[in-house]
Amino acid sequence: MYLKQGLIMKKIIFSILICTILSCQENRPHGNQYDLPELTQNNFLIGNLNENRSSYRVSFYDINIDFNIDKKSLNGFVSIKAESIRDLDRLQIDLAENLNIKKITHKNQNLSFSREFDAVLINFRSIIKKDSIFEFTVFYEGIPQGAENPPWAGGFTWSKDKDGRDWIAVSCEGEGARIWWPNKDHITAEGDSVRMAYTVPSNLVAVGNGKLRSVKDFGDKTTYEWFVRNPINNYNVSVQIGNYIAVQDTFLKGNDTHFMNHYVLDYNRELASNFFPQSKEVLRFYEKYFGDYQWYEDGYKLVEVPYLGMEHQSAVTYGNGFSMYNGVRSKSWPMYGVIDPLIIHETGHEWFGNSVTASDPTHIWIHEGLQVYSEALYFEDKFKSYEVGVHYLNTLKNRIVNEIPIVGYENENHWALHGDTYMKGAWVMHTLRSVINNDDIWFRILKEFMTENAKGFANTEDFFNKVKEKSGSDFWYFAKQYFYSPNQPQLEYYQTDARYFYRWNNVNDDFIMPIDLLVNGKEKRVIPSIRFQSFEISKHSQIEVADWKFYVQPIEIQD
Ligand SMILES: [Zn+2]
Repeated sequence: MYLKQGLIMKKIIFSILICTILSCQENRPHGNQYDLPELTQNNFLIGNLNENRSSYRVSFYDINIDFNIDKKSLNGFVSIKAESIRDLDRLQIDLAENLNIKKITHKNQNLSFSREFDAVLINFRSIIKKDSIFEFTVFYEGIPQGAENPPWAGGFTWSKDKDGRDWIAVSCEGEGARIWWPNKDHITAEGDSVRMAYTVPSNLVAVGNGKLRSVKDFGDKTTYEWFVRNPINNYNVSVQIGNYIAVQDTFLKGNDTHFMNHYVLDYNRELASNFFPQSKEVLRFYEKYFGDYQWYEDGYKLVEVPYLGMEHQSAVTYGNGFSMYNGVRSKSWPMYGVIDPLIIHETGHEWFGNSVTASDPTHIWIHEGLQVYSEALYFEDKFKSYEVGVHYLNTLKNRIVNEIPIVGYENENHWALHGDTYMKGAWVMHTLRSVINNDDIWFRILKEFMTENAKGFANTEDFFNKVKEKSGSDFWYFAKQYFYSPNQPQLEYYQTDARYFYRWNNVNDDFIMPIDLLVNGKEKRVIPSIRFQSFEISKHSQIEVADWKFYVQPIEIQD
């Protein structure tokens, strides 16, 4: 997801209901030191893998939805195929409480269920033995949440195209896929594959993720059947409805030819066929640095939408106006006229987020921080210039606010999509590269982290384990400072005629990050601590702190 413009943090919809059971807050290991969001009962139910969720694993979602566009409503059923991890006779799935469940069936029998906020507790009629494959179906209907400000405050966007025809799309990262279809709504609960059958009025086309399997015409309605053959985050499952046509392209890789079918509004065929080929350069860049694209079986396509865009897996949505300079986001986030900001950002998420998914949404810098950092590397690679990459990062620096840690608490459905996750996340990666000071090692860390966790899950600790493995050094002190504390390290310094004094301030006691100084134009690496150290200098030496390489604040103090 692209960061909302400016310093305004993403509006995360947290229930205003105060946690009704004391155990909510008690689950927090360290209280609420940094003003992270309060834990609501709904987020407690959705954020935890409690016993009614850890007892089964979803292998397949079969989503069937009939859209009533006039009423902005849906009517459908979702069959969930699962494996029991242990004996169970009840389990939790999740569906927004404003949607009505008509019935839940298992082997053609109705099951009883109860609901608490978005959690649905289903009771089976007999025990499902450990290691069984079982399937149950949820029939439901209702008016799904509308999107107040997609994709940041997501839901359904019901809009019209330039010809006044219906044009609809969904975005739900943070809100959760449960706002429109029932699922086990935890970030680690990806189905191995997903079938989507979307029924829409016959004058419209429904576009989903993956590949189109069939189109069935029922007169006034048509069903579009889409299929994803790979694990997919629930929030990436999407539907787009409009007067779409396919714009075909091919992606050549070695001896393989991969076909791409972008979907755009019918009047944008020529525009898209001229503008979208740049996505192939993006795919090549990400493959070079971060390993293979993981979804060739499902294809890669851009889908035009009536909001800015979103990283919907194998159906990346695009709404930046087909313009390098004058698109909605291009104006505020210029990319040197060489790449559309939405195409690179949302396509890069096919690696950061879609392939390697945070194992808890509080570690979502793995999606967004690494994504923004990878854009700096794109420019470094494109222009063969480290300095252009630094320039890009410098344009983002003033959006960092240092108010709350990038990583909060696990198990709280805390989607840490605040500004620092993006910009500071990127700067922290840039800083770590400078600290490691060996690009061979650094780029191997990035590539191995991405390839070894491809189609999998990882958290902050996993990342730093990889850093330790490749660099031979333990950088957990660095992670604690930059990810688990909001405080920007300050390098306090002063100089006399003969010596330069320096120390870390605003840091954890164990913070021992080295930093580079320019002493009369010559680079010198020092390892400050929280106590003053010094080195000899000549009178009136010019000493610069390399804050273009390290996310630190240099502060001159009086001796
Ligand atoms: Zn993003």
